[in-house]
Amino acid sequence: MKDSALIIVDMLNDFIDGSMACPNAKEAVNETAAFIDGKTAPESGQDDENAILGQFPILFICDHHPADHCSFIENGGQWPAHCVTGTRGSAIHDKLTPYVSEELTFYKGCDKNQEQYSGWEGMNKAGQSVEEVLDLLDISEVYVCGIATEYCVKATAEDLFKAGKKVTVLKDALGYVDRDGHIKAMDEMRSEGILIA
Ligand SMILES: [Zn+2]
Repeated sequence: MKDSALIIVDMLNDFIDGSMACPNAKEAVNETAAFIDGKTAPESGQDDENAILGQFPILFICDHHPADHCSFIENGGQWPAHCVTGTRGSAIHDKLTPYVSEELTFYKGCDKNQEQYSGWEGMNKAGQSVEEVLDLLDISEVYVCGIATEYCVKATAEDLFKAGKKVTVLKDALGYVDRDGHIKAMDEMRSEGILIA
């Protein structure tokens, strides 16, 4: 039964050891890998070489900006330049690449004039949204982890929750911009009905 999935938000090099390196990001990557190992441990003899056919779908959300993106300080935005298409900074952390599949990788922030924090607004290369793919896979329950708690993780978890999914945020698998903001964001999500575990 494929009724639950993992959604990994922005575990990209720029947020881990690059231009926007976040506290706890490395630990979050390790926690995520350990969580996946626990979920995909061989029990039925089936391997998960193709995540879309595997037992436990793993979706990746990737911030993916043109060099002139509006969110960058030099273009009047709030953040240092990050996750520019084609750079190392925009790539998923090495430790997680074994779990990546094209169908389950969603890009956001691709339009230079638009900021997108929520993975819900992302699309895969085939032009499918997260919602379409979750429906296709018959997913009702999602686990969410990633970077940063206060921004893209929270926005993604809230959109999933609003869409009627059971959402559990993996608290040890989060990187954040600011520790107080991280704790506040978790409190807010909890009060909205999102599970924090
Ligand atoms: Zn961004």
